[in-house]
Amino acid sequence: MSKKKVYIVSHSHWDREWYMGFEHHHMRLVQLMDDLFDLFKNDPDFHSFHLDGQTVILDDYLAVRPEKRAELEHWIKAGKLKIGPFYILQDDFLISSEANVRNTQYGIKESKKYGQPVPLGYFPDTFGNMGQTAQMMQLSGLDTVAFGRGVTPTGFNNQTGQGEYDSTYSEMWWDGPDGSRVLGILFANWYSNGNEIPVERQAAQKYWQQKLADAEKFAATDDLLMMNGVDHQPVQKDLSQAIKVANELFPDYEFIHSSFEEYITALKKDLPKDLSTISGELTSQATSGWYTLANTSSARVYIKQKNTEVQRLLENITEPAILIADGNNESNQDRLDFAWKTLLQNHPHDSICGCSVDEVFPGVMHRFETASQVGQDLTQNALAKFAAQIDTSKFSAKAHPFVVINTSESPKQEEVVISVKVNQRLFKDSAPQAAYDEMLAYVNELKDLAIIDEDKQIQPAKILRRYARFNYDLPDDKFRVPYMAAYVDVAVAPKLAAFSWKTLALVSDCPQVVKENLCQDTQAILENARLKVSVTPNGKIDVLDKKTNKQYTDVLRFEDTGDIGNEYIYKRSSDNKRLFFKAPLKKMVKDSLLNGQVLRYSHEELLPQSADERLVYEQQAVIDITNRTAGRSQKLVPFKLDVELKLLDDENRLQINVSGDNNILDHRLRAVVTTDFGATEHFAESIYEVVKRPNKVAKTWENPENPQHQQSFVALKGTDASIVVGNFGLNEYEVDQNGNEIAVTLLRCVGEMGDWGYFPTPQAQCQGPFNAQLSLAFTDGSQVEELMAYKQARSAQVKLLSVQSQHHAATLAPSATYLSVDNPAFAITATQKLPSGEVLVRGYNMTAQAQDVVVKYQGQEADSVVDLNNAKMVVAPNTTLRPAEIRTYQF
Ligand SMILES: [Zn+2]
Repeated sequence: MSKKKVYIVSHSHWDREWYMGFEHHHMRLVQLMDDLFDLFKNDPDFHSFHLDGQTVILDDYLAVRPEKRAELEHWIKAGKLKIGPFYILQDDFLISSEANVRNTQYGIKESKKYGQPVPLGYFPDTFGNMGQTAQMMQLSGLDTVAFGRGVTPTGFNNQTGQGEYDSTYSEMWWDGPDGSRVLGILFANWYSNGNEIPVERQAAQKYWQQKLADAEKFAATDDLLMMNGVDHQPVQKDLSQAIKVANELFPDYEFIHSSFEEYITALKKDLPKDLSTISGELTSQATSGWYTLANTSSARVYIKQKNTEVQRLLENITEPAILIADGNNESNQDRLDFAWKTLLQNHPHDSICGCSVDEVFPGVMHRFETASQVGQDLTQNALAKFAAQIDTSKFSAKAHPFVVINTSESPKQEEVVISVKVNQRLFKDSAPQAAYDEMLAYVNELKDLAIIDEDKQIQPAKILRRYARFNYDLPDDKFRVPYMAAYVDVAVAPKLAAFSWKTLALVSDCPQVVKENLCQDTQAILENARLKVSVTPNGKIDVLDKKTNKQYTDVLRFEDTGDIGNEYIYKRSSDNKRLFFKAPLKKMVKDSLLNGQVLRYSHEELLPQSADERLVYEQQAVIDITNRTAGRSQKLVPFKLDVELKLLDDENRLQINVSGDNNILDHRLRAVVTTDFGATEHFAESIYEVVKRPNKVAKTWENPENPQHQQSFVALKGTDASIVVGNFGLNEYEVDQNGNEIAVTLLRCVGEMGDWGYFPTPQAQCQGPFNAQLSLAFTDGSQVEELMAYKQARSAQVKLLSVQSQHHAATLAPSATYLSVDNPAFAITATQKLPSGEVLVRGYNMTAQAQDVVVKYQGQEADSVVDLNNAKMVVAPNTTLRPAEIRTYQF
């Protein structure tokens, strides 16, 4: 009989920042790496160390010890240090689809600078796993993943576990919605099941008896995996000795200090035929519901909003600007990589989830700012290059042409403000004051200003402001050029196709007057051909969809509840009351837009100023969330919401902007959308997936709440209508079990981190000004309208771009569509120009049906389909897409 093999993999799970600030963890990382190098040198039996699947740790170490680079390279090449394949260990759900892909791309690229990455998708601590993991890993060349959460292992003798999220063994097949499959390894006894192995014989005997039984309970084969390490665990220096002792004590087993590669090779060879198959996302659906950690999606909402802003900048502004300007080269790509990697450093699960101590977040905000500045700089350069290529010769020489660009995947007609420079005086030609006076006089004397298109047709516009101000140019080959310039701020709302641009021009002495829509009435009603939105004096919002003739009464309310939980978990205070804003509105104002209307008002309620005193005791005594009983304070303070409702012409979508000044503690504020749909399931945008989730919880569920993650939208469907709720950086929602209500969290304010002790986090109370953006699209329930609404929710996160041009003949048409997609089922996530010249367009099939899609760049169909490593695939560009297929077209 052959011996059972025990594969011991040494590792340390490295949260870069968490219950201490970044540098505190960082300094311990330096110690860990120094210790490892010593051990590699002094103990030839120490096989190897798994560096937690993330390459950023290498940079972190070298930032402190740059002189150790050669030694680091040596140990990686010698196979002692096992690196990659990811750049950081992300939270799947709170970062964008593209950020998830870039994390693997940069991780593999960084790994290859030193050697080869470990061929294992590594998700040890991820707070739930995305449904498209199988397809994303397969497209990255990885066919095996290891993860810690989401599936309940039952053991082969256990007859009870036959659920969707149960697996007989710790090893299983994991399928994605497109049919992709990976081998999944669940850390059934956590990724610390072989930590701190005793050397002393008696202790070792006891330790192994327990640990081997635990592993064998779930293992599918005679290959047992023992993870020798845990969070920030120092390396076990006497491990070789401990393994020697184990081999002496247990002659029926062979204990091997090993690597994942060796374990996986053995495992694959020995796999039995009866592995369980699990499908789609793993979010601890079949548990008590208390420890899904999904409420991290509302911890420090400002972090999520900023992340959305920077992701949209890099993905939907900077990369497309570089694409249309045809402006990429190695140097630009390096800058873009720097921006992306800096952003990704905010995407580890303890960072983007907001579940860390306060000291962590100034650094997080700094990285957002860094990535944002680099993105803006690249965008400005690309747009200048683009503007120089736009043919503006159709306009008169006196006109001031500018281009408005829609880089989103939906048609848009929305007001955008552009500062048009109409004159300038260089400081070298005139003293600043004289130049200022001259420019101010110049701009004020301009008469009959208007906006025209390339066919000289007057366009709807508002002339907002005329002024002079200091500005400067930074030429590539000369010293900076300061000047005083004259500007006119104009608002325009050109009709733009998806992925298109249009050139307009500011002209003076125009014979026709600019047409402005003036506010027609003071009623609290917004109306277009599709929707009629009325607001009552108490803030009740009713919507009539004229197409479906469906009336939505009191469709949007604002709810406040007490929160006595922490950054990980929402726990409603014991009063168990939902307080809704219903006091009379103040300051109702209605305004006209160039293509719509906007209604503004304030809503004020008296709310408890905090939890009651018991919460402090419960926090300090480290009482588990489920056993807490604190209520809300009796002291009430006024809490004001400023609400803006916007309805554009030709849209079936109401836009909502809510802002306020948060002056109370221990609470959660939500926007609650109410319908009469009674739906059994709902749809939400996840990672490369519009995921269908049930509204009813599992039998095992004990948590009265059922928080879920979203990217840009969540949708609820009735028999002949649906509502798609869009958002900007509001990642948490909840649908009630009756399938009538969608609640989106605007703000969640708690005073402690949670997890394994008491870590006060006063800044997670999110005091001060806040803002939240939502939208409600009312559809007729048809798939086409729903898909358009999905795309619109995605596109609403993308701002229009603009750039001023000179008067000249050039190669690019003044108006053009650069990218077309003939099927609304295909959502576009990336449009990139590589330095090598190829154009990549990536997207995914949002539906559960096969779809035919033709994507054309500059009127041409794609040359090929590539995988996520940009390697050519066998599949042809014109083949039908599988349900939920992710596809990258190369032109
Ligand atoms: Zn972790």
